[in-house]
Formats: sequence, C-alpha cells, structure tokens
Amino acid sequence: MVKAIQLDQGSGGRAMHELVSGLFMRAFANEHLLELNDSALLHMEGGSMALTTDSYVVDPVIFPGGDIGSLAVHGTVNDLAMRGARPLYLTAGFILEEGLPIELLERIVTSMGQAARAAGVLIVAGDTKVVPRGKADKLFINTAGVGVAPPGLKIGGQYARPGDAVLVNGTLGDHGMAVLCKREGLTFENEIMSDSAALNGLVEEILRYTKDVHVLRDPTRGGVATTLNEIARQSHVGIVLHEEAIPVAPDVAGACEMLGLDPLYVANEGKVLVILPTGVAEGVLDVMRSHPLGRRSCRIGSVVDEEPERVFLRTRIGGHRLIDMLRGEPLPRIC
Ligand code: MG
Repeated sequence: MVKAIQLDQGSGGRAMHELVSGLFMRAFANEHLLELNDSALLHMEGGSMALTTDSYVVDPVIFPGGDIGSLAVHGTVNDLAMRGARPLYLTAGFILEEGLPIELLERIVTSMGQAARAAGVLIVAGDTKVVPRGKADKLFINTAGVGVAPPGLKIGGQYARPGDAVLVNGTLGDHGMAVLCKREGLTFENEIMSDSAALNGLVEEILRYTKDVHVLRDPTRGGVATTLNEIARQSHVGIVLHEEAIPVAPDVAGACEMLGLDPLYVANEGKVLVILPTGVAEGVLDVMRSHPLGRRSCRIGSVVDEEPERVFLRTRIGGHRLIDMLRGEPLPRIC
C-alpha cells in the first residue's frame, strides 16, 4: 500500500477500487454499502428510497456541452436513476476558492438550476465554504441525491445473468474527450461535445415498457470497460463485447488514437449500460431509440457463464482480448 494518496486512486479504476474496498468499505461496512451500486436502495414501507452522493472537481469548469454545475446535477440524478428510482431532491455543497469571479459562479449556478429543472429535481439544501487562494482550484461541488423506487424492483450490478444482452444508448467516450481536448487546447474539425445529460427520462421509458431489467449502470470514470468489470464481479458472470458493435464518434475515435487512449476506458456522463434478458432486448432498443438520448442505442455484448468475473472483447478479426479495469489515471479531474 502506498504511503500517500496518488492521483490514480481517484480514477474510478483498479487503484480506486483497492482504496475503497481496503479502507472505506472496512471502516463503514454495512449491507447497503457492500452492494457497490450507484446509490443505496433503502427499503421502507410502500417502496424504497434511493440515496447517493457525489463530488465534482472537473477541470476546466466550463467545457463543450456542459459545465461543473450541470454535470453535478446530471451525475447525481443518473446515480439515482440507475437503481430504477425517480430522482426527487438534491443538495449542493460548494467549496469556492478565494478570487473566483462572481460572474463565473453565477453562470455555473444558473446552469445548475436549469439542469435541475429540466431533470425534474429540486435542489433543497446547500452549503458554501470559501478557502484561501490556492487551497482549492476555482470551485468544487459536492452533492447528495434522494429518489424513490417502486416496491419490488430489483435492479443492480449484482443481477446480471448468463444469456442477458448488454445495450448502450449511444457513442462512447464523448465526455472524457470533450473535457480533455478543452483542457489541453486540442482542436479538431468539429468540437467534441460532452454527452452530459440526465438519464432519468430515458430510464423511465424503459421501465414503463418492461420491469424485466437486471442492471442499469452509467459508465462514468473508467469507462465501459471498468464498469462492466465491476458488474462481472458483482454478478459472478462473464461478459463478451463485440468490437464491431461498439459505437464511437469519428472525432472521438481520432482524438483517442492520437492520444493513445481506448474509448472503452474514457468517461461518459450521458450513457447507460442496460443489461436484460435477450428476449426483451429488441423491444427495449426500440423504446430507447425513440428517446432523444437514445437515438444511437445498440447491443454491444452478452453476459455468459464462462470466464466468470472477466470481460472479453471479440475483435473484428475474430480474436478474443481480455478487457481489464482501468489502470493508472490517464485523465484526472474529468468529472
Ligand atoms: Mg454511477
């Protein structure tokens, strides 16, 4: 174990998993936390309450397709929606650096308010702290989110079953590459836009069509590769991805290639992995494609009983490649 916190312990990948399971899980251990899902589903009379928390440290604070304020709303709403819950209330804690222009703060808070209204949630409590110049970078936002789930819904990373299909609602890696290109001043023919979006409306449509959904998970830090590894471990199943089916926008693919990144490991903020029985997959894909956030929905893989707890990529030329969790931290402060 390292003696001081390293950047990759915040990556969403392997090092962060080791930190979380070795330290936080041991200190706080309880059945809800040990499920390792996007939010805790707390059972109450008449249904369940979903509860989550998140922090946002993205650099730059404004990027193509969003900003730290809208991202905070989307990320928190999505973690609630991933348990099949209807997001209702958020809290927001702001840590501001001395010298932050009020105009910038106003722009971000206004955008945050708009994102909350659009997602149908209320920001009902908040907190503000200011730290001396240099002790934080512009602003950080911490949120909590509360939602309600109907009784009996069983959606979580532990419910994937062999024979399930793996669906996604569009192209991969857009958010990570939008933030990275903005930060590094890289320009392409078209500006790469973040996919940051609230997914609760799309999830609601899916669940209106069928309750036969096993897993919903937003592939944020660590990307689809890391998220599917988490699910494979939680459910003790294998997952096979089909390379030719994985949707990546041409500019994102080009930027990734130039920087030596794999879009499977790059963060998304408006994508959901849907894992459900193959028999309902086609119908759910139709539902997803008729939603504005799901036009490019497709099936990217399958859950299998061979090779439990591992993820494989079936390549275009018929090869079989092991897809591990993210190692290292190629993209710090992406959300
Ligand atoms: Mg999540």
